[in-house]
Amino acid sequence: MLSGLMMEYPLTLNAIIEHASRMTPRKTIKTKLPDGRWHEYSYAEFHLRVRRLGNALAQLGVEPGDRVATFAWNNYQHLELYFGIPCAGAVIHTLNIRLSPDQLKYIIDHAEDKIIFVDGTLLPLIEPIADQLSTVRHFVLFNATAEQAGNLPNALRYEELMAAASDDYNWRCADENMALGLCYTSGTTGLPKGVLYSHRSMMLHTLGVLQAAALGPTEADVVLPVVPQFHAMAWGLPYAAAWVGASIVMPGPHLQPPPLADMIESERVTIAAGVPTIWNGLYHELRKNPRDISSITQLVVGGSAMPRGLIEAYERDFGVNVVQAWGMTEMSPIGSVAKLQSRHQSLDAAGRWDIKAKQGYFVPGVDARIVDDEGVELPWDGETMGELQVRGYWVARQYFKRAADVEHFTSDGWFRTGDVVTIDRDGYMTITDRTKDLVKSGGEWISSVDLENALISHPDVLEAAVIAVADERWGERPLAIVVPLAGEPDPEALNGYLLERFPKFWLPDRYVIVDEIPKTGVGKMDKKVLRQWRADGKLDPPSPGPFPQNEGRVGN
Ligand code: ADP
Repeated sequence: MLSGLMMEYPLTLNAIIEHASRMTPRKTIKTKLPDGRWHEYSYAEFHLRVRRLGNALAQLGVEPGDRVATFAWNNYQHLELYFGIPCAGAVIHTLNIRLSPDQLKYIIDHAEDKIIFVDGTLLPLIEPIADQLSTVRHFVLFNATAEQAGNLPNALRYEELMAAASDDYNWRCADENMALGLCYTSGTTGLPKGVLYSHRSMMLHTLGVLQAAALGPTEADVVLPVVPQFHAMAWGLPYAAAWVGASIVMPGPHLQPPPLADMIESERVTIAAGVPTIWNGLYHELRKNPRDISSITQLVVGGSAMPRGLIEAYERDFGVNVVQAWGMTEMSPIGSVAKLQSRHQSLDAAGRWDIKAKQGYFVPGVDARIVDDEGVELPWDGETMGELQVRGYWVARQYFKRAADVEHFTSDGWFRTGDVVTIDRDGYMTITDRTKDLVKSGGEWISSVDLENALISHPDVLEAAVIAVADERWGERPLAIVVPLAGEPDPEALNGYLLERFPKFWLPDRYVIVDEIPKTGVGKMDKKVLRQWRADGKLDPPSPGPFPQNEGRVGN
């Protein structure tokens, strides 16, 4: 073999911050503080503070490879930690603030976190377990008063540490294969599993996000990550935005629709990213109290399927371009993006919305295949459903402190996503369901996701979830759980509406009306809880649907 003669320049995170502080030192990072005021500083100041943080971590005894956790909203301190911890050779473990105390304790113990950086506004959530965490040596608080710090064992204050530290610092992350971050899957399917990113995988992911074929932020953008920094590294946006010197706006704890709408308007945000629940809430807010959100060029949505009706409504009512992306914690997380390609320009609006409602094409850097139950590869014809498997530069090969398992990783080097999908001839993927959420009725699959999307497009429905319930005759049947927009939707009318789109045997036998659908820590409908409610009898007695049980299967 004749080797190439190019440098082996390491893919390490310090490159981003050094580049940004030289190329765009005067660009700004703004944070909406808990009290509603704005904090603002330049990339040059940010750079110096990250160096200070490196020294502060060294003083606390942090060694390369140590896990250092964060428990915080999206803000400038959290962004400093995003860089400072990995550039000190340690591993940033972003804790999901919406987990229960038991779940938090489980993952902190599992990760063996040495220090936890805590946002003062979130203290009540961590205090109950603070003295049970045997690996944690210090809590470091920001946005907190001295009295609040007194309530935690071994508490230190972030600004005091920073003030005492010099900004003359040498990065400690010379090797690109060092671990950079640790993120636990939100556990909609089983116990949380830790995904351990490396500098190399995260730098390649950042380049991946920067592609125009992916999200492609540039210096001219104003980026608002609404997606929490503890949700799959905020989808890589903070690193990507920083590398090109985009303006960054951090929402802090202000995630309700009215302040988000105000923020987008006042800061002229161009790229905002969040889960469908957030954009659903914002849409209804804007209908009630209009704001000018015309600055937005990409309203990025992922984490769960974005209903087609909402994509359409944003474009029709506000002229806003919705960009759906699909990803997973195990994929750093970007996998696919549903942007239009040149051949779609001639489509009418409805045709374009059809494309944008798919999960999209795989971004360069991600390789995909679909397989059947026996692992046999299936065709990309837009109809054949199979399990999606992926591999690529930023895909996990194993979970943290778990042997490589065949349940999640194939022997020939692919990651099993657990998503059931179709892929069309042009490489656009559509998620039909998660393997664990499909409803199998009389031997035929029913997609809970398709039913939910259709229900949510009904004018009387705000939210909808469909789960499988055991049925003696058909194996399983779909049960729909609906949050009404107003009044009480009529099951018969809803099924009539569904019948325009789906075969009869797909229609839910029963509907239950609830005030709210339980959500996971990252805002997804929590079907584990719904199944538990059902087991506990909380969803009884469901109103009977209009269709008899013998509609449960087709053909055979
Ligand atoms: P968890 O597996 O705990 O839910 P993740 O946040 O990693 O945690 O979730 C990844 C899953 O979220 C994907 O496997 C997929 O099922 C779902 N998902 C992500 N983005 C989308 C999307 N745009 N449309 C539909 N489902 C999505």
